[in-house]
Amino acid sequence: MRAAVRELQLGGKTVGLVPTMGALHEGHLSLVRRAKAECDAAVATIFVNPTQFAPHEDFSKYPRTLEADLRLLEGENCDLVFVPSREEMYPPEASTSIEPPQVAAPLEGVCRPGHFRGVATVVLKLFNMIPAERAYFGQKDFQQALVIERMAADLNLPIQIVVCPIIREPDGLALSSRNRYLSPGERQQGLALSRALNLVQKRFGDGERDAAVLKRIMQETLEAAGIERVDYAAIADPQTLTELKQIEGSAVALIACFVGTTRLIDNCLLAAQG
Ligand code: AMP
Repeated sequence: MRAAVRELQLGGKTVGLVPTMGALHEGHLSLVRRAKAECDAAVATIFVNPTQFAPHEDFSKYPRTLEADLRLLEGENCDLVFVPSREEMYPPEASTSIEPPQVAAPLEGVCRPGHFRGVATVVLKLFNMIPAERAYFGQKDFQQALVIERMAADLNLPIQIVVCPIIREPDGLALSSRNRYLSPGERQQGLALSRALNLVQKRFGDGERDAAVLKRIMQETLEAAGIERVDYAAIADPQTLTELKQIEGSAVALIACFVGTTRLIDNCLLAAQG
């Protein structure tokens, strides 16, 4: 992979990297399109990273749709696709991992201990294998993007991190590989996440700055949809992810909850005007 990327670069081409776990959808493809628009060549990776799943999580049943994924990437004229095996990424003797930055500690860090250690480690490995100029990540995984931006800055990684907007279904549901687990009824319930975030955004736009009020709106919207298991519905500082009481400038609203047995996440920025 490194030789193939270097060859592109020796030919004067810049390279954009799009790391994924496959089961590709329009969200992933938007990253590939952005990489193609901003770089001369795009490299996608498909690897369901075992180290970012806890033992009780859905690693073994995570959707794997390699043939369809490759066709979609071909349709976007993606220049290279890297599909490493588990053994190639983690030979039995491998034992080094990355201690993720502070921003990994709250929210997902509380609910999924060890998750960001796995993410940071695999992303750094991919950066080393594929020495791209830029790497593209989705705002859908808001905390993940912050973790990777911080890691890249803290470790002086020679790569620019680009964070791209969340792609949604027309009815608001954020695209996710895990959406294919949802029954029709659960899919309907899943709309409560974007509905809650829209309500919060509207109230913020109307001037509400009390985080407890905004948090209650999210909790009540999820509850009204019959969603009982909410990991968090938080209003946090968009850089540090510490939860806020009162919003001074901008903030981010983040939700993680279970719809049936499927864990969904979504978020939206609350940006002060001017
Ligand atoms: P995943 O395959 O879930 O690890 O996601 C790979 C990349 O695609 C990550 O950077 C995600 O944030 C991004 N991504 C996933 N869903 C979306 C979406 N709906 N919109 C934009 N980016 C997304």
